[in-house]
Amino acid sequence: DRPAVDAERSTTGGSGGNPAFITETRFDSFNLSPPTIKALHEDLGYEKMTVVQEATLPACLDGKDVLAKAKTGTGKTLGFLIPAIERILARGGRRSSNPDIEVLVISPTRELAQQIEAEAKALLKYHPLRSEIIFGGSNINSDRRRLESQPAEILICTPGRLQDHLDNTPSVPQRLKGLKVLILDEADNLLNMGFRPAIEKILRYLPGQRQTLLFSATIPPQVHTVSKLALKPNHAFIDTVG
Ligand code: ADP
Ligand code: MG
Repeated sequence: DRPAVDAERSTTGGSGGNPAFITETRFDSFNLSPPTIKALHEDLGYEKMTVVQEATLPACLDGKDVLAKAKTGTGKTLGFLIPAIERILARGGRRSSNPDIEVLVISPTRELAQQIEAEAKALLKYHPLRSEIIFGGSNINSDRRRLESQPAEILICTPGRLQDHLDNTPSVPQRLKGLKVLILDEADNLLNMGFRPAIEKILRYLPGQRQTLLFSATIPPQVHTVSKLALKPNHAFIDTVG
């Protein structure tokens, strides 16, 4: 019962978004950092927000917890990466040599995690910040070497592999103590794929004082249950599907 995430994506991704989802609201009408705007305009080639970005960015930039319902291919990735990066910048100061993992993105599949990582890299081009990716099926020792030789502020992962590192790579839970933003992407697919125990375990390692953003195309009961565990009771619910 696993949704055809990649099949759906190939009809919507890559070509710069579906024009039906683009609004008249410009990214530079929001108070975003100049390096973020420059990357959006010059590297990603986007000036206007999609419907879900326009609907969620104000609450996300405000630091609120958000449960957002939006279809595949509507631009959720930038919708959560932009406020997450802006949140890291809000602390000011320079990059540290051993930074906390300030933003954690949990994605159901390697392919989706890789797409998120590619957008994160593009968005970070003019920022003194790094992103890193870990997923199952790759060599865990090489993960460990990457994580420890070039620690990143933004970690994109699949749940099983993160769980593995929580148990076996002490620097990972250590560096997660400074987490500022948790993102659960495609929460319905995460749960359909059986990742609820992994997510519950991950949540136990994370600081309670953090912002959590949960994105899902559908909100079945399982997503409700996890949203109660992960999000603050006063979170915003933003439905762009209806
Ligand atoms: P979702 O996560 O909602 O399935 P994605 O974040 O993968 O969707 O975005 C789908 C496609 O739309 C990607 O190719 C992405 O680069 C593109 N996109 C995102 N934001 C914009 C925008 N503001 N304008 C045009 N295209 C965009
Ligand atoms: Mg997505």
